[in-house]
Amino acid sequence: MTNPDLVKRINKFYKVEDILEKLFNIRLFSDTIICPFHDDNRKSAKVYHDKDGDRIYCFTESKQYAISDILLFKGERLEEWDPGRNKDLEELMMNESSTSIRKEKITLDRFKSGEISMSEFFRILIDN
Ligand SMILES: [Zn+2]
Repeated sequence: MTNPDLVKRINKFYKVEDILEKLFNIRLFSDTIICPFHDDNRKSAKVYHDKDGDRIYCFTESKQYAISDILLFKGERLEEWDPGRNKDLEELMMNESSTSIRKEKITLDRFKSGEISMSEFFRILIDN
């Protein structure tokens, strides 16, 4: 199950032109594009810049793709794209006043090494 807050953060944070270039090697020159989600031979899709985030609408499929949908389509893990991820980790590293700082650092190392997932990581921190 995908975390709806994470989806919201991702969709607001990333620009569709950056995502298309990174994942599909598509340069955006206009708002109408060849749809990257189906075998398209004309420009069936249009890019929209909404306040909740950019999205692509494909008129052939009658289907809408938010940034998070594009990432999932390409088999990306949304957790890896969490814009708050590095900030949280940085803040944790800076948090020298905490009494459980040593335990936090060990937990952080376990997370970084891939031994525990991010949700396990935060659960351990909250339990401390
Ligand atoms: Zn399409």
